[in-house]
Amino acid sequence: MASVSQVSTPSTDATLASLWGALEPVGRVDGGGYRRFAWTSEDATLREWFAGEAAARGLEVVEDRAGNLWAWWGDPDGPAGPGVVLGSHLDSVPDGGAFDGPLGVVSAFAALDAYRAGGHTPARPVGIACFADEEGARFGVACAGSRLLTGALTPERALALQGDDGATLADALRATGRDPGGLGPDPDALRRVGAFVELHIEQGRDLVELGHPVAVGAGVWPHGRWRVRLPGQANHAGTTRLEDRLDPMLALAALVLELRRAAGRHRALATCGKVRVHPNAVNAIPAEVLAWLDIRAEVDPAVSAVVGEVETLVAAHGGEIREESRTAPTTFPTALVRRLAGLLGEVPVLTTGAGHDAGILAEAGVPAAMLFVRNPTGVSHAPSEHAEWADCVAGAEALATVLADLAGEGEGAGAGGDGGAGEGGQAGGGDGDRRGQAGGGDGDRRGQAGGGDGGRP
Ligand SMILES: [Zn+2]
Repeated sequence: MASVSQVSTPSTDATLASLWGALEPVGRVDGGGYRRFAWTSEDATLREWFAGEAAARGLEVVEDRAGNLWAWWGDPDGPAGPGVVLGSHLDSVPDGGAFDGPLGVVSAFAALDAYRAGGHTPARPVGIACFADEEGARFGVACAGSRLLTGALTPERALALQGDDGATLADALRATGRDPGGLGPDPDALRRVGAFVELHIEQGRDLVELGHPVAVGAGVWPHGRWRVRLPGQANHAGTTRLEDRLDPMLALAALVLELRRAAGRHRALATCGKVRVHPNAVNAIPAEVLAWLDIRAEVDPAVSAVVGEVETLVAAHGGEIREESRTAPTTFPTALVRRLAGLLGEVPVLTTGAGHDAGILAEAGVPAAMLFVRNPTGVSHAPSEHAEWADCVAGAEALATVLADLAGEGEGAGAGGDGGAGEGGQAGGGDGDRRGQAGGGDGDRRGQAGGGDGGRP
């Protein structure tokens, strides 16, 4: 851990513990997991917590047009902007763990505190972000807040998304007192982000095998979600002859097995973790089955190949398959990844099959990267998800080290800085500012994304 603890104060541990303790009871359910879904009362409590912690540090909280929260130290629209942003999300999957998301937000606050306690004054504004509805647990689209922000998800489509309770996103926003008509891409909010670093619990066991508490994330695998509808014919379980049945459960069984086989053939990961059976009665042949598929792979053609094979099977059963979300492979800017790895003492550099807001921002041209904190079991999206406390502290300290480097040294936050804080963090870099160096160079996606990527607002 000493290798990643270049900016540290005795209080990082205590700060992290206090932040963590306040969040722990919110949305906790029997069995120890969490249900923190977007735009619910639990979500409102988490947002209030975020705003309270920001206010306690004198940060200005802004909600963008996509519902994401930003807490700023210094003016990202001023001459020293754009800023360096740390953060993650606070929502969870159904019965999710405590760490996925919240660890990145509490670590961001703890890193800011450690940085300030070290007597630093940033050359550029510093922000902490809390992204809305990252898991897509309620409305089915992962990273909905960051996708809306960048324009990768249109407000028209987002507002019509419907949760299991029948409420659409538009209904849910109205219930919180927000105007659904205001939802949409927010290029101004995006422009304020000169660099984004998201700390996250590792969702695998690479760091256990490598013997390190912290890694730098180099990229996100391509992934997507599909909704399958398999039609049947409702009938009596006790009087309908087997040969007369149109039973969509058999199609579902074939689908799940074929999904697994196709994933194996194409070196992909595929999961059918959610189904809805109508009418869901013990003594009735179902009228319809809905199933959701999650497919990921290291390379995009493998994802397409699995989808293609599943499509054929679904069509053979008279069903339909519809893409709900699809994300291309994301490679974080190589120079930024190398820089972070070097700063932290040559820690491991990993890619991940899990989607993250940092990936969505990177696709939109923001220089973004991630830090991963060791997960002893590799389990995630489940109540037993865990990270050792010492590793969490090492992660927060690593994030403080990253912050100190990316924020630079200036005379005052948002006050013009050291003269090195030029424009262009978003514009493709190469103008000599630190963000240009951090995000620029070979493999810099900003140049690609800035060249007319359809996902960019
Ligand atoms: Zn997450």
